[in-house]
Amino acid sequence: MKKILVILLIVIMLPFAIWWVRHNEKIALRLGRPLTDDELDWAKQFEIRHPEHVRVLNVTRIPSPVPHFIEKALQKLGFPVGNAAGMCMRYGIYLAEEYADRDELLAHELVHTHQFERLGGLYSFLRIYLFETIFLGYRNAPLEAEADDKANKVLA
Ligand SMILES: [Zn+2]
Repeated sequence: MKKILVILLIVIMLPFAIWWVRHNEKIALRLGRPLTDDELDWAKQFEIRHPEHVRVLNVTRIPSPVPHFIEKALQKLGFPVGNAAGMCMRYGIYLAEEYADRDELLAHELVHTHQFERLGGLYSFLRIYLFETIFLGYRNAPLEAEADDKANKVLA
């Protein structure tokens, strides 16, 4: 029963999540910087189709899709919201200023850019990503594990 409710919640949330990611992607594309030569090399190794589209935006705090009290509730469900060090909005990558100099962080987010492309765009990526993070938890989500693995390999 609980599982059905959560699936229903994801289905209801999905259009909003897509709108929200697209909105934030636009901001990062407008205000962010392009990848450096080294970063373009990582992007190539991650097989990103359009690395030239990527923009990186450093921010004081990563944007959150929900008010603080809802964020707290979502955290209990294992949602990766609040206090994030970085977030990938397809081609727009947000990095928290505090951690922006950590190569592994940008490399990790670039793997997500590749996943957006590979899975077929915002809808396909977010549907799978939300299911994984809600049902398995952020730490156990295969898309997250892949991002960590590939980032570590490219930086090794
Ligand atoms: Zn991630």
